[in-house]
Amino acid sequence: MVLLDFLAPRSCAFCGVFSTADERGLCVNCFDDLPWRVPAASPTPGIFECSMAMMDYEFPVDVAIKALKFKRRLYYAPALAEVLCTARRSLPADIDSVLPVPLHWRRKMVRGFNQATELAVPVARSFGIEILRGVKRCKATPSQSGLGATERRRNLRQAFSARHRVFSKHVLIIDDVITTGATLTELGKVLLSNGAQKVSALTVASAR
Ligand SMILES: [Zn+2]
Repeated sequence: MVLLDFLAPRSCAFCGVFSTADERGLCVNCFDDLPWRVPAASPTPGIFECSMAMMDYEFPVDVAIKALKFKRRLYYAPALAEVLCTARRSLPADIDSVLPVPLHWRRKMVRGFNQATELAVPVARSFGIEILRGVKRCKATPSQSGLGATERRRNLRQAFSARHRVFSKHVLIIDDVITTGATLTELGKVLLSNGAQKVSALTVASAR
């Protein structure tokens, strides 16, 4: 994979134009044209030290996220991870691990990958911190789309579990889209009740 990365000329995931070596899958023009949220801070319920959604869930980001998730267009992952990496300066400095929102194993098997992991791995590498292991999605929650906030919360009760104690001081949860915040909140609670001292959340886009 690394060799392939090295040999393949990198083209922009959004427009196809070949980009320079220091860019990761996203050209300068497309980067500037994305629907950035200013400020990126997003009002997520209380438990988060900091919560950021970098963009509005609008074209072309909505299309890119759906293509990544449902059509296996994995070339969008490095481009969207690049977007997440721009948050670094605005995030708390004591973040010491990254947790992609876990997928239930059955859904992961069907999809072949977890899009949140595809986003979180380049972020962890760029920030120089580790990916937190051992947190699982133990309940195959039905799709959240079309559900109201109360139903989403009910759906997610006991959806996540930690296999062992979390020794991270400050965990950054990463996902593609934030809608009601119910998933991030539920996962954040599991981390806090298993030893994490603080949790923050970072998503590519906000759909609210
Ligand atoms: Zn482009």
